[in-house]
Amino acid sequence: MRDLKIPEQRHPEKARRPDNPQPKKPSWIRVKAPVGEGYKQTASIMREHKLTTVCEEAGCPNVGECWSQGHATMMIMGEVCTRACTFCNIATGKPPEALDVFEPGRVADAVAKLGLNHVVITSVDRDDVEDGGAEHFAQTIRAVRRRSPDTTIEILTPDFIKAAPEVLEIVVAAKPDVFNHNLETVPGLYPEVRPGARYFHSLRLLQRVKELDPTIFTKSGIMVGLGEDRQSVMQVMDDMRAADVDFMTVGQYLQPTPKHHAVDRFVTPEEFASYEKAAWGKGFLMVSATPLTRSSYHAGDDFARLRANRLERLASR
Ligand code: SF4
Repeated sequence: MRDLKIPEQRHPEKARRPDNPQPKKPSWIRVKAPVGEGYKQTASIMREHKLTTVCEEAGCPNVGECWSQGHATMMIMGEVCTRACTFCNIATGKPPEALDVFEPGRVADAVAKLGLNHVVITSVDRDDVEDGGAEHFAQTIRAVRRRSPDTTIEILTPDFIKAAPEVLEIVVAAKPDVFNHNLETVPGLYPEVRPGARYFHSLRLLQRVKELDPTIFTKSGIMVGLGEDRQSVMQVMDDMRAADVDFMTVGQYLQPTPKHHAVDRFVTPEEFASYEKAAWGKGFLMVSATPLTRSSYHAGDDFARLRANRLERLASR
């Protein structure tokens, strides 16, 4: 039995890698400590429903702020991921269990109990499952919709690269409000950052969502500070717009442990502001680009702005 709290067992494929020094965080990466009643209540609802969150598994720096407001991003399909991205702190390996058929119901119960207006649901990669977990995602969306019809649903999915292309239709047919799939980094860094993925496959996945159902908002994000240059980030923005992506997020990469990909540098708040300006200029409906931006950070407020921006653009045509 693996103990996922022990780093060598959590990431067996990274155990023999040389250590990358972890640079001191600059003053602009400041986070709130996880304390307070709201935080405790969110934690207790997650435990009660036996749910895993990406907030904890990925060691997200925003957990204090988000959980104190009841915003937790639930991670379905287990806590072990079949990929081994070099930036990610989710445990890796062969998942010990099949998909839990009761999980969609538990997610729906937790969303109702938290009283969320907007929920973000993500997952590990399950390349061991024939449809990559597409049906499980669809069941989870439907369960939340039934239980909380006024809650808007955002999903952050894997790339389903090992499954038949048609599985995407199963997820889209369940009609999430936002379909998010992160490109994570610029194409030139894929071999070292996201070795199991393909840049153009991910881009095409986002484009296909829009082709299948243009009413669904599409969203994608990258981390910066991994070694990319500005020109490559501009190229990613153009590629996303060519794939009709509505919402782009850009955040600073933080290195979870010495065995993970090194932080190349801390991008300054001024550079983030400049990325944000460039992205608005390229025509995204919504942009979030700050050092602490994560896909699900302030997702509810951002969704309200995304929807308002679409209506405004439609009205101006
Ligand atoms: S930003 Fe997202 S992953 Fe991080 S704590 Fe908030 S909801 Fe969780």
